[in-house]
Amino acid sequence: MRVLVSEVGPRDGLQSISAIMPTEAKKRWITALAAAGLREIEVGSFVPARLLPQLADTAELVAHARQIAGLTVAVLVPNLKGAEAALAAGAHKLTIPLSCSETHSLRNVRRSHAQMLDEARAIAAAIRELPAAERPHFEGGLSTAFGCTLEGAVPERRVVELAEALMDCGCDEVGLSDTNGYADPAGVRRLIRAVWAGVGRERLTGLHLHNTRGLGLANALAALDLGISTLDASQGGLGGCPFAPGASGNIVTEDLVFMLEAMGLDTGIDFRGLLAARAVLASALPDEPLYGMVPLAGLPLNFSQSA
Ligand code: ZN
Repeated sequence: MRVLVSEVGPRDGLQSISAIMPTEAKKRWITALAAAGLREIEVGSFVPARLLPQLADTAELVAHARQIAGLTVAVLVPNLKGAEAALAAGAHKLTIPLSCSETHSLRNVRRSHAQMLDEARAIAAAIRELPAAERPHFEGGLSTAFGCTLEGAVPERRVVELAEALMDCGCDEVGLSDTNGYADPAGVRRLIRAVWAGVGRERLTGLHLHNTRGLGLANALAALDLGISTLDASQGGLGGCPFAPGASGNIVTEDLVFMLEAMGLDTGIDFRGLLAARAVLASALPDEPLYGMVPLAGLPLNFSQSA
């Protein structure tokens, strides 16, 4: 079984820290990640630079990453305007985040569920105008799917309804995001099954997990056991959690890859290459803490990868 580890550090990690990584360093990092075997990298987000100056160079990074053979270049797009920029840049995969918590959606992007679904519909229409061979993959990312810091628990029913609504708007698939690290393995299984029942198994293949409460890898394993085949992770768990010192942001790419390879699952990622990419990241952001147990402890003696 092959698992796709989708690297989101250049987007989720970098947007969570105040330091701005120089564009040339980002390019070196992305190149090193791809050289390690990462086949999908979310390189940025098409949001106004005044809101997220850390990601203002996303178009340039898409252009750079597109030159790497075999790499799927993913970006986040909060609205049609962002999507148009992403299409112009030539991104291979667009994800529109839809917060299951409407309070969070209003606070975060100042749009209601209905308004966000309108954006998704407009983006799908813009994609359909392209020749078939040039259309990027379009994902609806259900953020705060496992709970929200403003609303608390999010009803499972609402997540399923929003997944169905995103598919109706023309998304190719939906993803589930544990934006705040609220998920637990039993809840992960429950929600995946519920969404599968609503939109079909082939329309939910990926999860985006955070390690805020230390359950990231346990949640990843629960999802894998059910048959989820794509897992987002960020190198060094970049970003951390401002409210939980010591907690990484996303699940740590290095630790996830170690777990998968140790289990005999093929990621196509070379651990030494991953450490080389981590060194690029560390030298570009020397003041930023990097997380991960395996990079600190080292690989077990005679550890051999499936690749
Ligand atoms: Zn995230």
